[in-house]
Amino acid sequence: MKKIVTLFLLFSMLATMLLPSTAFAESGDVLGHATYTDISAYINHYPITSYNINGYTAVVAEDLNYYGFEVVWDDVTRTLCITRNYATTEISPAEQVYNYSSVAGRDSLPYLETDVKTYVSGNLVESFNINGKTCIFMDSLAPYGEVVWVPEIRAIKLWIEGLPMQDYAVPEEAPVTLMYAPDGRTLVVETDQVEAYKNVGWYENESDVTVRLVSRDKRSVVVYKAEVDAYKAVGWLSTQDTVIDPTKPMVAITYDDGPNTTSTSRILDTLEFYNAQATFFVVGNLAERNPDFLLRMKDLGCQIGNHTYNHPQLTAISAQNVSYQLTKTSDIIANITGVRPTAIRPPYGSYNSTVSSVAGAPLILWSIDTLDWKSRNATSVTNSVLSNVRDGDIILMHDIYNSTATATESIIPELIARGFQLVTVDELAYYKNKTLSPGSAYSKIK
Ligand code: ZN
Repeated sequence: MKKIVTLFLLFSMLATMLLPSTAFAESGDVLGHATYTDISAYINHYPITSYNINGYTAVVAEDLNYYGFEVVWDDVTRTLCITRNYATTEISPAEQVYNYSSVAGRDSLPYLETDVKTYVSGNLVESFNINGKTCIFMDSLAPYGEVVWVPEIRAIKLWIEGLPMQDYAVPEEAPVTLMYAPDGRTLVVETDQVEAYKNVGWYENESDVTVRLVSRDKRSVVVYKAEVDAYKAVGWLSTQDTVIDPTKPMVAITYDDGPNTTSTSRILDTLEFYNAQATFFVVGNLAERNPDFLLRMKDLGCQIGNHTYNHPQLTAISAQNVSYQLTKTSDIIANITGVRPTAIRPPYGSYNSTVSSVAGAPLILWSIDTLDWKSRNATSVTNSVLSNVRDGDIILMHDIYNSTATATESIIPELIARGFQLVTVDELAYYKNKTLSPGSAYSKIK
């Protein structure tokens, strides 16, 4: 028994002596085949061949010999030790150091175990076996310098003090463009190849392959289009599409009596968040004091309608006064927004033949009255909409109550979840193919 042990020791000593310490035997049990990455790697701006392993950039340990490192392989213990050789102040000429290749966008390699233990500066680091060569992550070299990711050029760079820096005037390759796939993959392609890649489903802008999803509690997330169904399955919502589908249900939410309060801001925030549109029948004297609200409504694609200058009951005043109330308000709205209102909501829904004859625009009433002014209760307002709403409805609310703003935060996501498109009054008429006549009253548009 003792003899065998002695023999074995002798053999391993021999093996150690016979094998030069810098010989790199094939390492590891699992062999990965080299797959280049679209990420470039540099040491002091000298390029080094790199691979993408599990989304991280790795380099061949052996190659570090050329960059002022001492890389020592011990075949008996199957250990690779990487240290910085401080005696070295040279980096091998570029033509010697690498067989630099960059093939864009290949899939990354999976995790490849190796039985080789790799130490960097005495610390065990993760290592991988690619084509029989041991690779380590660029990040593992952090003890020797600064590892920097430069997203603009998709490069990872290690800067080592005391070693020469490559002149920055590295010959540039052909111009490249970063492209995106709907499943989140990225690809750097030569710019003159962009069209070819577009034809097979790649996009130039990340925004083309992502979509913003929202939640009922006003959280927001940007996901790749390929992930949308999975997110929706757990309750996330698409915001309203900017393209209205006339074959799908739609409703017009309307808000009267503003703008002048924080509640109008909250309602506009909610509309903006869900990319939904509504119609605001503003009161002229409040509009002229709060022009910014009208500009924001316009920016959000909302419609601004006329709700008279100071909210009289139009059936109780003269034709001349009706005309004054409506004209003055339309002038104010047009002066602020550049758009003359195309819809009137008579206060209290009150109109007669005199009002109709001088109105000059359709009178927009409602088919769902939330009675928000009376209840001042968000739950009640929400229920009055959600338990009654149907395609073509015009919903009456008032943007001057915080309870209405709170109700809006529930109503809008729920209507979107149910497949309703939230449109302005004019859009509702347009998509329902209805021409609204001046002076005529409409309570719904189907
Ligand atoms: Zn009113």
